[in-house]
Amino acid sequence: MVSNRVALPDQTATGGLASAMRAALQERGGVWFGWSGKVARQAGGEVHRQTDGQVEYATMDLSRTDHDDFYDGFANRTLWPLLHYRPDLVDYDRKHLAGYLRVNNLFAEQLISLIGPNDLVWINDYHLIPLAAMLRERGVRNRIGFFLHTPLPAASLLIALPRHLELLETLASYDLVGLHTPRDQRALQEYFLYEVGATMRRDGRIRTPEGRNFRAEVFPIGIDTAAVAEWASHADEHEEIHDLRQSLEGRALIIGVDRLDYSKGLPERFHAYARLLERSPQLHRKVSFLQIAPTSRGGVPEYRQIRRELERMAGHINGEYAAPDWVPIRYVNNSYPHSLLSGYYRSARVGLVTPLRDGMNLVAKEYVASQDPEDPGVLVLSRFAGAAQELRDALLVNPADTEEVAEALGIALEMSLHERRVRWRRMMDVLEKQDVTAWRNAFLRRLAE
Ligand code: UDP
Repeated sequence: MVSNRVALPDQTATGGLASAMRAALQERGGVWFGWSGKVARQAGGEVHRQTDGQVEYATMDLSRTDHDDFYDGFANRTLWPLLHYRPDLVDYDRKHLAGYLRVNNLFAEQLISLIGPNDLVWINDYHLIPLAAMLRERGVRNRIGFFLHTPLPAASLLIALPRHLELLETLASYDLVGLHTPRDQRALQEYFLYEVGATMRRDGRIRTPEGRNFRAEVFPIGIDTAAVAEWASHADEHEEIHDLRQSLEGRALIIGVDRLDYSKGLPERFHAYARLLERSPQLHRKVSFLQIAPTSRGGVPEYRQIRRELERMAGHINGEYAAPDWVPIRYVNNSYPHSLLSGYYRSARVGLVTPLRDGMNLVAKEYVASQDPEDPGVLVLSRFAGAAQELRDALLVNPADTEEVAEALGIALEMSLHERRVRWRRMMDVLEKQDVTAWRNAFLRRLAE
């Protein structure tokens, strides 16, 4: 298993994905390799090893320059905005691309000694696109799979990336490329057909002009549904949850939980909430909107800018609508562990998840899995989140359409108990069937086939 970040066994605050990866490794035995999260004073590349049961964790430090060029630079200022349909934010710098390739090479060099003859190699996400090609150059013949956790935009957008072919063509070095939705899969196929000159084989594989065959298939990631539901059912035991509920004084809570990222549609969401208050004076003092938005990628200027923008907007909306005993928006930059988050989700009548683009969006799924089956809340979900392909019983909205989101909020707040239960049950059925264990088993099975 290879990913940019590794969840070490002594790290508690791990997400569903991290626990799923760890569980897969514990079952089969294996190695998890990635960046240690540390920036070394000297040149990077030192590997630390740690064993826990059948799992070996191998992590590597990066030098300051490598980190800045690879992670803050090419991964997060070039690829991230491009993959999230924001060519206007793409910052392209050859120095960053060189750093990205340098770090991928460093990964390949260290990884090669960790791969056994019959190992399946599973590489994750946009930080490591060319890694398989670099392993192949070094003679690795194992099955190698790649999962892209972000969206993949259409070829017409991908070609805006300078030297896109050099980078994206390397996807053909994998045996299997996994994506979240059929739209992402189609985008990949079209890119290979029109830009690389590949053909589609009868068996569904893509064949490049050089004669390499690979598969691009859809595996929508799930959450650990049972664990989330279990945490949520114990929400009452947390003092923090009790405090939140008491502070509401019977008001309906709308909740948003997102990394502070421009792809999450937060300014648009704040506008929509303001619009709701504007058009529904009867809701004043009856609702409260809690937006949890832990800061992320503070080394990237666009992230500092969106933070300032949201502070201004939250202040503005509260200034306009607040009363001495009512604050319309509670805007929080802290992050919370899953056990507590699920209690917050359960306390909210509406889950408001409106990214402009999102590979999947796990928060949407966690919100649903956290609800009280007797009295579930309503999910308002962006059509542009991968999760919208599965959660058809959410109220689906275009996050840029302020009026539509405000309207959906109004409908959600008034929805009958019967309708809430019917919608929730249908979404929960999907989440129970397609949980994170089913997801990783499906991917690994296909890779091994
Ligand atoms: N999360 C968390 N604590 C927080 C905020 C978020 O643990 O305070 C978790 C959240 O529960 C979810 C993940 O971070 O599992 C975010 O995943 P998602 O797919 O929604 O968005 P991403 O951050 O990967 O773009």
